[in-house]
Amino acid sequence: MKKEVTKIGVLTSGGDSPGMNACIRAVVRSGLYYNLEVYGIMRGYSGMVENDIIKMESRSVANIIQRGGTILKTSRCKEFYTPEGRQQAYNNLKKLGINGLVIIGGDGSFRGAQIFSNEFDIPCIGLPGTIDKDIAGTDFTIGFDTAVNTAVEAIDKIRDTADAHDRLFIIEVMGRDAGYIALHSGIATGAENILIPEKKTDIDSIIKSLQEKEKRQKLVNLIVVAEGEKFGGVELEKMIKERMPLLETRVCILGHIQRGGSPTCFDRLIASRMGYSAVESLIEGRHNIFVGILNNKMHYIPLDEAVKKKQHISEEWLKIVKILAT
Ligand code: ADP
Repeated sequence: MKKEVTKIGVLTSGGDSPGMNACIRAVVRSGLYYNLEVYGIMRGYSGMVENDIIKMESRSVANIIQRGGTILKTSRCKEFYTPEGRQQAYNNLKKLGINGLVIIGGDGSFRGAQIFSNEFDIPCIGLPGTIDKDIAGTDFTIGFDTAVNTAVEAIDKIRDTADAHDRLFIIEVMGRDAGYIALHSGIATGAENILIPEKKTDIDSIIKSLQEKEKRQKLVNLIVVAEGEKFGGVELEKMIKERMPLLETRVCILGHIQRGGSPTCFDRLIASRMGYSAVESLIEGRHNIFVGILNNKMHYIPLDEAVKKKQHISEEWLKIVKILAT
């Protein structure tokens, strides 16, 4: 029989994303509502290993729903990769009597949680907190909507100046392994080309289309490229310049602004819903799972399965890009 969960810990791990605070708030307040003791674990798995753990009350999460970043901080924790590090983390949790964990993070954090939950008797729930949206088993991840909206706002501004000068702008957005931010922000801003790591970039066809556009006097062009795409913004500009030296080009790398800022209403809502669901799952005995939202319903899959899958960009999106970007 599964042991009753009475004291839970919540942590944010790996890359931060806007909406993590809204999620922490939901976990803390749902836990307290169900008469659980709730602990905040600082700096991801580092706080577990180093015993940097604080008791959370309802007021501990006051006035944070609208704030980006994470009040619990986050980190990449080398020690957690080792059995000794995880044993140390377990000992610290045991001392406090923590018997349930909610981990808000990306796929790396879930891998850590999966290994930990297989080794020890502390059930873990993973919640998708990442701007990359590349996690299977959920339509949404906490932070993606905010990051895309930040990118869209920036690209709209770039279009104004690109238009004033008749320039080609190459805008690099975040996404080391996944092209979702590039795809969504590119479609939403009417970019002429969207380059993502999931699809091989055909430089000849980009040049051909730019030359064809030049012929019909269409000089304003936006290319949105994900940072993990084979060439990246700077290299791409170099290659285009070599073939079309007279073309006016500029590169803009949006960078970390996409990670910060106040979360959108949508991110606050899914963060709240997922945070509540994680606590409910721990209480109801749905242990060692990943909690997502699929077709507007809560969706639960075992952590063992969740770490094996990735969300893939659908062919339909790629077709839409091709048709609309002329
Ligand atoms: P993200 O969760 O954003 O994908 P990382 O991949 O950096 O970020 O993972 C966050 C943390 O999760 C790592 O720093 C490490 O502490 C832990 N982690 C990731 N993979 C493993 C693993 N295979 N074994 C143990 N811990 C892991």
